[in-house]
Amino acid sequence: MSLEKTEAVVLRLFEFSETSLVVHLLTRDLGRVHAIAKGARRAKPRGGEYLDLLVRAEVVLLRRSTAALATITDFAVRENYPTIRSSTQRLNAAYFLDELVHEVSRENEPNELLYAAAIEGLEGLEHGPAESIAATLLAFEARFLAAAGYLPELRRCVRCRRDPAPAERIGFSSRLGGLLCSRCFAEDPGFQAADRGALITLSSLLSIHGEALGRVRLPARTVAELRRLLDGYYEFVFERRLRTARFLRNDA
Ligand SMILES: [Zn+2]
Repeated sequence: MSLEKTEAVVLRLFEFSETSLVVHLLTRDLGRVHAIAKGARRAKPRGGEYLDLLVRAEVVLLRRSTAALATITDFAVRENYPTIRSSTQRLNAAYFLDELVHEVSRENEPNELLYAAAIEGLEGLEHGPAESIAATLLAFEARFLAAAGYLPELRRCVRCRRDPAPAERIGFSSRLGGLLCSRCFAEDPGFQAADRGALITLSSLLSIHGEALGRVRLPARTVAELRRLLDGYYEFVFERRLRTARFLRNDA
């Protein structure tokens, strides 16, 4: 039995009793943690802070090896992302981020890159201009895929490692994990036709951060193309349709 202090984002939140919550946290240091927060449905005496979905907080956790749920003994909200909450478009992007992160995070398996990608994504959705929301979400997705070990090959043929010629038709294979050159189409008859510029854009977003990302404006066509390819890819990798993906299509 020990007290551990870490930083976390609330990914799921369930009412447990009149005063208590059960939360799924993505923590920086402990992987995903499922915890009970007693009294958290009442405002704290000082500061009036609540634990809420997507809130970023410092938490003190009591974990017992025998208990399925940890106990949150104290927390301090660091960021509750008011701008995200005030905009349907930002909130839908944040819910999608939440679902992706929840899908790949594991209890007691810290993933520093995954935590950093989630925080950077939320900060970008909070502080970036409305025009860069699509780029901010896609940049998060590229970092998320890299952190989870699922980043597809975006620049060369995943099969023969060849750089496609400039005017060559290319495909995207979810099963093989990335770009497919025209010579290798037969390797995966289920490939989707793809736009090379869109794949290069996604790859480039990996190295754009902060305010520079806020200045990125992607053509609607590129966003729609990447949404289509990534939605198919997620469905293949996670073997289910993501619940929140349809909200993004309504925004486009
Ligand atoms: Zn090839």
